[in-house]
Amino acid sequence: MNRNFRTLEEANVAGKRVLVRVDLNVPMENGRVTDTTRIDRILPTIIDIAGRGGRVVLLAHFGRPKNGPDDENSLRPLAGALGAALGKPVAFSGDCIGAAAQAAVNAMNDGDILLLENTRFHAGEEKNDPVFVSALAELGDLYVNDAFSAAHRAHASTEGLARTLSAYAGRTMQAELEAIGSALDNPARPVAAIVGGAKVSTKLELLGNLSKKVDFLIIGGGMANTFLAALGKHVGKSLCESDLLDTARDIIAAAKKNGCEIVLPVDAVVAQKFESHAPSRVVDVDNVGDDDMILDIGPRSVVEVENLLGAVKTLVWNGPFGAFEMQPFDAGTNAAAKLAAERTDAGKLLTVAGGGDTVAALNQAGVAQHFTYISTAGGAFLEWLEGKVLPGVAALCP
Ligand code: AMP
Repeated sequence: MNRNFRTLEEANVAGKRVLVRVDLNVPMENGRVTDTTRIDRILPTIIDIAGRGGRVVLLAHFGRPKNGPDDENSLRPLAGALGAALGKPVAFSGDCIGAAAQAAVNAMNDGDILLLENTRFHAGEEKNDPVFVSALAELGDLYVNDAFSAAHRAHASTEGLARTLSAYAGRTMQAELEAIGSALDNPARPVAAIVGGAKVSTKLELLGNLSKKVDFLIIGGGMANTFLAALGKHVGKSLCESDLLDTARDIIAAAKKNGCEIVLPVDAVVAQKFESHAPSRVVDVDNVGDDDMILDIGPRSVVEVENLLGAVKTLVWNGPFGAFEMQPFDAGTNAAAKLAAERTDAGKLLTVAGGGDTVAALNQAGVAQHFTYISTAGGAFLEWLEGKVLPGVAALCP
């Protein structure tokens, strides 16, 4: 990834109208925000700009509106939630372009904060339509992107605007880019990646890219079953993509060629029911019974992973080792997560994790705040793991 992005520090914001793309796609119930993580993450950028006398004009999408404006996808309730988090009022404009938006921006003083309505209420947002980009650009003197989670999409507010106004990475975007850069672009070696989760089919590109970049590719979760089956092991009733056995063998061969060691479980926790507290036992991967389902890595595999974590300097983690939502099948994930956290605290390991259920699994293990960086970016984080250029980031690099 090109790392020559301009940072907020370099921007002269005093007295300027600063269009700031943020991620406000927070979970809501009955008009109330149920998880403020995304709000908390954008506060440093807003406080920085407002504190330096900039006029903060916030741009964001919310949900997936199909036919223009609707109440369900309105950002209006977010102005109050943001104001509460900042301890100062946040004004709201019922449209993100046109006369209403212009009037709201004109009414701002230095240090004020204004939230514009959902950019996706206009079809031009997702089409990256130059006319819509120009309409947004009229509202600002410069542009800051603090929404890494939306950077994999070349939309008007993530890409088009960055190519139209002077563009800078916000504080959270900068932290995310620096963290992921130090994990894969220029890492301290050896580097390991843990890739778990349900299926190989959703992570083919990710496995291909990581096998070129890391020294150890530790595979767990349901997807390990497909690899075990590809190596001729019997996996009983486990989740297994039998149409991908050749693909799994290709991944193993390509990794070998790249000097990347693939590490698979040597034992497993198996059960006959996919439910919490289902009776379970530990078996060697050569001894999985016809009615068994592999639901976690076993204790010998955990020791192997722990030994590896003791030997590497960088860890990238996506996907749990087992069906972590159900006890006791969270044990492998928890044990590895705790050791990774301890070594991070001791300054011996750089840990970057993210994508889908990984954040939930690490939160459940109680270690998330001990990792070097946890990405909440979902799709953008996965595309980065896949080695793709993220248009919203590329547009910040002059
Ligand atoms: P992903 O979103 O691809 O990272 O997959 C996460 C999901 O994989 C979680 O819901 C886990 O319960 C599931 N998972 C992990 N290991 C297994 C397994 N051995 N069998 C079935 N599901 C699993």
